[in-house]
Amino acid sequence: MTHYTLKQAADLLQSKQSSAVELAQEYLAAIAAQNPAINGYITLDAEKTLAEARAADEHIAQGKAGALTGVPVAYKDIFCQTGWRSACGSKMLDNFVAPYTATVVQNLLDAGMVTLGRTNMDEFAMGSTNESSFYGATKNPWHTEHVPGGSSGGSAAVVAARLAPAALGSDTGGSIRQPAAHCGITGIKPTYGIVSRFGMVAYASSFDQAGPMAQTAEDCAILLNAMAGFDERDSTSLQRDKEDYTRDLGAPLKGLRVGLPKEYFTASNSSDVQAALENAKTLLQSQGAELVEVSLPQTELSIPAYYVLASAEASTNLSRYDGVRYGHRAAQFADLDEMYSRTRAEGFGSEVKRRIMIGTYVLSHGYYDAYYLKAQKLRRLVANDFQVAFEQCDLILAPAAPTAAPKLGELNQDPVQAYLSDIYTIAVNLAGLPALSLPAGFSTNGLPIGVQLIGNYFAEAKILGAAHQMQLASDWHTKAPE
Ligand code: GLN
Repeated sequence: MTHYTLKQAADLLQSKQSSAVELAQEYLAAIAAQNPAINGYITLDAEKTLAEARAADEHIAQGKAGALTGVPVAYKDIFCQTGWRSACGSKMLDNFVAPYTATVVQNLLDAGMVTLGRTNMDEFAMGSTNESSFYGATKNPWHTEHVPGGSSGGSAAVVAARLAPAALGSDTGGSIRQPAAHCGITGIKPTYGIVSRFGMVAYASSFDQAGPMAQTAEDCAILLNAMAGFDERDSTSLQRDKEDYTRDLGAPLKGLRVGLPKEYFTASNSSDVQAALENAKTLLQSQGAELVEVSLPQTELSIPAYYVLASAEASTNLSRYDGVRYGHRAAQFADLDEMYSRTRAEGFGSEVKRRIMIGTYVLSHGYYDAYYLKAQKLRRLVANDFQVAFEQCDLILAPAAPTAAPKLGELNQDPVQAYLSDIYTIAVNLAGLPALSLPAGFSTNGLPIGVQLIGNYFAEAKILGAAHQMQLASDWHTKAPE
């Protein structure tokens, strides 16, 4: 049984109860047996995994091991990784084997972590259900008729199914927190700029952040310590002193002021989600936290602002896929123009094309002021709301999504409906704030429900500490699908 948390896996290795190779083999066997049912991993390479594990064992034997040496981890397909197909869930990059490695992945490799494989995702991280992947949808391991959420749905599903102790995801508008919530695991999106974006395929550069996904907040803190840090190859990377994100894990909740945004606690949430929020409130209060009502008045504007800005940035970022340098190229064309258009028509899926068209439109002469510039102004208003709220509270409690995981196909037909389901996650990305999602209950049909803790800039340690205290006093995060 590969049910280990990251910490348990590290302990097994340190106490020599298991070698890195044995642990990797255990996971690879479980993956071979169970992955076909959920399609969480899309690229596996046992030889590479075992080579990394052997190297880890050598380090352990030589006394050169660190706390994470030999611990297995899975990577969302968005991260470039030397020698691995790094397709970002797209036909466009189906033939792309990365010649370099993303900084956050390199940091974990340098810490001795062992790559289990690459996880499924919505194409170019655009989506909330994982159904836009070129590699087929990932299924929610709790109920395979349901989606795992998106876009880091593969990472969430493999951690939930206990096919990896932890995984990396990326979050542009909720893609770590929402799938974590739908799969019953914990994930954190850090403050914009504290983890490097170098080598992470760009969707919307002013929003994208990588982050850890694991069973517990404690594991997320350990992984974030290994991932984060200044990177001169990312121009938006922040130059700050190294932090210890585990430092508040022992901090009691007594006296912590937790804000409840009145715009988030509405009857439009499903009754299951409302019940999970009540669970979280009770848990916080029983440990001495103080609940205060706050307001985020511009909440409704965050969806139009995000979908204008993210699409604008996507249309620019994705212009690089032209069939010239790498990736898919149409087999037949008459001239250069047709080579471009056929390549892009064939290589991109429909959601990606939709975003490119929206983005190109809002950036075009004549519409730029009306849409793009206006959305930038809304972005500032949304960010300001949080600063006002954080004068009254230390952290904010929020739903992660209005409902539990929808059924496969349910959101697929109506993009606007899918965009609206991001209502509780995207304001955080507009503002660049850190936020975590943790399990807080189950729906009546047995699907996990997550809630968010949102903090002010650089409050990761505080968020992780509060989530850890909540997890010490509850057991939703320990539950796994059968
Ligand atoms: N659902 C949002 C979108 O489609 C968020 C995706 C993400 O965070 N990568 O843009």
